[in-house]
Amino acid sequence: METKIENATNILSKVTGSVFNKEGQQQLLITLDEPIIGYQLERYTNSKGELYGEFTLFDNRIITVHQRKKIHAILSDIVNSSGDGKNAYDIKSIKEDMKLIFCKSKGIDEFSTSELTGDCTVTVASEFITFLLDFCLEYGVPLSDPPIELAEDLKHQLIMCLYERKCAVCWQPGMVHKVTTTGAKKIPGRHEVMCLCSNHYQEAESIGHKSFADKQHVLGILMNQEQFMKLKNTR
Ligand SMILES: [Zn+2]
Repeated sequence: METKIENATNILSKVTGSVFNKEGQQQLLITLDEPIIGYQLERYTNSKGELYGEFTLFDNRIITVHQRKKIHAILSDIVNSSGDGKNAYDIKSIKEDMKLIFCKSKGIDEFSTSELTGDCTVTVASEFITFLLDFCLEYGVPLSDPPIELAEDLKHQLIMCLYERKCAVCWQPGMVHKVTTTGAKKIPGRHEVMCLCSNHYQEAESIGHKSFADKQHVLGILMNQEQFMKLKNTR
C-alpha cells in the first residue's frame, strides 16, 4: 500500500559503492547531488535520534523492443480513430504531439523512442505507454490489442477503468461491481471493486470471480469507504 509522506525532501543521488556488514545487511554509499543542510537533518530526526528515508532506484535500461511495439500499436489505433481519412493525422505527427504533451506534463526533456538514440529509459517508456492508454480510455479510442496486454501499470489501468466506467477486460461501457478476486478478508467499510461490462460480469458470475480474474489477468481493487464513495459520486 502506498504511504503518503507529508514532510520529505527528495535529493538526487548516485550509488557509488556497496558493501555487506557483519550482519549480512547491504550498505550503500550514496553520493548526493547537493548536500543536506544541518538543520534539515535535525528537522527529520525523530526523538530517538533516528533518521529514516526511502530509497528509489531508477530503471536506466533503454526502452525494450516490446515497449516500442506497444507504443507503435497504440499510436496506430489513435491515428485510425482520428477523423474521416481526409484530415487524419499521420502516425509521426501524432507521436510528436503526444510526446510533447507527455513531456510537458511530466516536466521532462523530450526523448526519442527510436532504437539508435537510446535516450528513452524503460521507466519513461513505461510511463509514456500508460499516458497513451489513459488517453485512449478517456476518448474511447478502440484498441486492436487487448488492453490488459498493453498495460504497463495494471493497477493504475484498473482504477482508471473504474473511474471511466469502462470494462476492465474489453473497455466497453461497464458498471462498478463488488467482486471477490484477491482473497482479502472481508472487513466492514472495505470494498473490492472492478468495472465490468454485462458480458464479462456474467462470465465472472458463472465461472466464479477468482477463476475469472486468473483467466482474464485482472484483479479487484481494494478501496476504503471514503475512496468507494468518491468513486460512486464520479459520474
Ligand atoms: Zn467487457
